[in-house]
Amino acid sequence: MARLHIRTYGDDVLRKKTKYIKTYDRKLLQLIEDMFDFMYEAGGIGLAAPQVGISRKLIVVDTFEEGEKFALANPKIIWESDEILAMKEGCLSIPGVEGEVLRSRKIKVKYNDPETGVELTMEASDLLARVIAHETDHLNGVLFVDHLHESEFAQISRKLQELAAA
Ligand SMILES: [Zn+2]
Repeated sequence: MARLHIRTYGDDVLRKKTKYIKTYDRKLLQLIEDMFDFMYEAGGIGLAAPQVGISRKLIVVDTFEEGEKFALANPKIIWESDEILAMKEGCLSIPGVEGEVLRSRKIKVKYNDPETGVELTMEASDLLARVIAHETDHLNGVLFVDHLHESEFAQISRKLQELAAA
């Protein structure tokens, strides 16, 4: 297994726009396996490729609920419910920081199946929707701290500066 390393706040790769996946081969499936292993070891429920330094549109998610384990290539949110929920989020790339983020309770996502390349859509709600939205943000260089209310951001800005300087 290739050794993956987490990239943390301040690393440019987390702010870059990622490239589309166009080739569906064993190498991609191996990367997905490595990303799942890495995520489980780190105690996360979602991981986006840029978080391990790979600037490609690929995410893995496992909420540990039945049927909620996915690897999505080129995910794109094509619909969001008007119903919004607030929930505390964290990120493996921003250790020690939490904040409340507002997100749609339900989403529809278009993606490519990593095994076949076939384009599919799925619906997700609650925690699964949140994790997919958080990870898809990573593919566009967006981090959960970007969504925080100004007053909450002010409380963590010092911690972010420390992370960026480390
Ligand atoms: Zn994250």
